[in-house]
Amino acid sequence: MSPKVAVVTGANKGLGFAIVRGLCKRVDVVYLTSRDEERGKKAVAELNKEGLNPKYHQLDITVKKSVEIFRDYIKEKYGGIDILVNNAAIAFKTNSTEPVAVQAAETLRVNYFSVLTTCEILFPILRNGARVVNISSSCGHLSHIPSESLRNRFKDPNLTIPELSDLMNKYIEDAKKGTQAAEWGNSSYVVSKVGLTALTMIQQRLLNDKDIKVNAVHPGWVDTDMSSHKGKLSIDEGAVAPLFLALDAPDSVRGQYVWSDKRIVNW
Ligand code: NDP
Repeated sequence: MSPKVAVVTGANKGLGFAIVRGLCKRVDVVYLTSRDEERGKKAVAELNKEGLNPKYHQLDITVKKSVEIFRDYIKEKYGGIDILVNNAAIAFKTNSTEPVAVQAAETLRVNYFSVLTTCEILFPILRNGARVVNISSSCGHLSHIPSESLRNRFKDPNLTIPELSDLMNKYIEDAKKGTQAAEWGNSSYVVSKVGLTALTMIQQRLLNDKDIKVNAVHPGWVDTDMSSHKGKLSIDEGAVAPLFLALDAPDSVRGQYVWSDKRIVNW
């Protein structure tokens, strides 16, 4: 029987690193992936010092070819993936001076469109029984979107991925015009994580005929570079809910938005 294979994106530091650490204690083959090979290999060496042995592969979620090379490598070596944690993301700092249009395009390019492309490339090699964990955020809660009609669009159980991507592009267009605030609010990161949470629910619907679980999770406010180390949870505490979904949640937990304390939250 082929070994169980887990993959974590953006795992050279922060939450992704801690998720790899947790997976290594429970799963045969764990891939720590990173866009920068040197940073990734340094992270592997750190875990080696703890007696853990993740494998390494380069993976930049914004570069289609990089994801395809990784998919082909895993397919050839193991046949498929059992656990996929879509962790990689970016966030502009609140005091960033980049114009909102730039922040909107870049944040959605990485946090929504690149995660979507990564899933489109890797989902065909998910094995029966696989679990996908999309790292969302409390910012991915629908209540952060001011417009009721937009909230209803996001919640529409018939929303398709192309329609969701159109909504994401509409936000980028509105941000270019400077008209985004009333309907979308003021944070590109919020829109990207609401998009990711909506995507999670659609992905689950599309996979319902298979034994594959896709969930979104808010890991808590975690002490990482992204939170400028203001988060209260350690990276290992932040990894608890993602690890629960990757390993221990009942099979009935599908297409849900789950909080750091493992509670299913009404989106
Ligand atoms: P960090 O900024 O510490 O880590 C982000 C990771 O993503 C880094 O390894 C980074 O790599 C990687 N990354 C960025 N862009 C790419 C890319 N194109 N391809 C591959 N990897 C990439 O953030 P956190 O650990 O805090 O965040 C992890 C996840 O948790 C994110 O999805 C974030 O939105 C979410 N989250 C975090 C919270 C917090 O309080 N920290 C709260 C809620 C959600 P590199 O080192 O090369 O930049």
